[in-house]
Amino acid sequence: MKVLVLNCGSSSLKYQLIDSDTEAVLAKGLCERIGIDGSCISHQPVGGEKVKEEADMPDHTAAVKMVIEKLTDEKAGVISSLEEIGAVGHRVVHGGEDFSEAVVIDEAVIHAIEGCSDLAPLHNPANLIGIRSCQAIMPGVPMVAVFDTAFHQTMPKKAYLYGLPYEYYRKYKIRRYGFHGTSHDFVSKRAAQILGKDRKDLKIIVCHLGNGASVSAVKYGESVDTSMGLTPLEGLIMGTRSGDMDPAILSFLAEKEGLDAAQVIEICNKKSGVLGLSDGASSDFRDLVLAAEEGNEQAGHALEAYAYRVGKYIGAYAAAMNGVDVIAFTAGVGENNAEVRAMVAQYIGYLGTNIDPERNRIRGEEVILSDEGAKVVTMVVPTNEELAIARETVRLTKKS
Ligand code: ADP
Repeated sequence: MKVLVLNCGSSSLKYQLIDSDTEAVLAKGLCERIGIDGSCISHQPVGGEKVKEEADMPDHTAAVKMVIEKLTDEKAGVISSLEEIGAVGHRVVHGGEDFSEAVVIDEAVIHAIEGCSDLAPLHNPANLIGIRSCQAIMPGVPMVAVFDTAFHQTMPKKAYLYGLPYEYYRKYKIRRYGFHGTSHDFVSKRAAQILGKDRKDLKIIVCHLGNGASVSAVKYGESVDTSMGLTPLEGLIMGTRSGDMDPAILSFLAEKEGLDAAQVIEICNKKSGVLGLSDGASSDFRDLVLAAEEGNEQAGHALEAYAYRVGKYIGAYAAAMNGVDVIAFTAGVGENNAEVRAMVAQYIGYLGTNIDPERNRIRGEEVILSDEGAKVVTMVVPTNEELAIARETVRLTKKS
């Protein structure tokens, strides 16, 4: 079956068409500036040439139409008609407490996703627009929602409750939800598979280090803790997000700079992290490593603070699970940035990771970093959220 995987943002739409029998990507692309002047689409049939062109996309329905046009295009297309698409998998950011796994989309599900919009006001409405657009263009094609939060719904209360008056949880459902769940699930599963073990027998720490970044503790197959919280702002220092900090900083900064709460949160989301810490040098880890090598001290400090925080979380989650068998690095930085991994390695050796500096130089592929016989196996496992979404979509639509 051919599965269209969609990830809709407020003004963007990322897509992949995946053949679920071979798990090969047939084509992928990105629509940008939807509803804004200068909207454009980049489309790449795998093995073919990437095309980028301006295209009028006043809304997401127009963008989905454009994607179908490209997929069925005589030259750049990979299918002959819309009918070849057997199902659509939608990435949905927030499933609140309603969804602990992916679901086939119907009106009740749409209603429930709407209900979670309070928790992700930028993302869920965009995801819903994508779903509605597909319903209009491909009526009758089964669709599945795969939630970023779902995998973490197994966390126990002690991990997901904040130390706030309980009434705020009761009234507003303020709690830790966690994100990147599809990736933490995929990577922990694959790590066990590579080691020839059952995930149910392992305590795994997954470090998803991309632009956004989070760590999770996966104990015997279930997420028992994760570093992102009510929103993706909590936890690690990220590309542009601050991660953990004293909440009193918010009002302090608001008063000093004459800002309102939304403006301070915007700074914490968009101008902080390694971008802020490096005094604006970059949010991209490749740039930062280069800058630090060329003597930019602040870039060096940003990288050190970043790695230190990752190391601390690994220690915390080893404690949370009362042990750890596997530590897996994934996403852009975790998969590719050997320098950052080497910096993190300084804080986790006591666990018995025995990371081989030579193997740690390998980038972008599955590799076991630890020496043979290490007490804790440290490894790189490239994530593939689109494939995970396609697999869930097939699993659920074949049943229904
Ligand atoms: P997103 O959260 O946007 O999906 P990614 O997982 O793509 O982020 O991660 C982006 C980060 O990965 C960037 O900081 C980038 O520098 C880093 N990265 C990607 N490829 C490489 C590479 N080959 N070497 C070093 N760092 C890389």
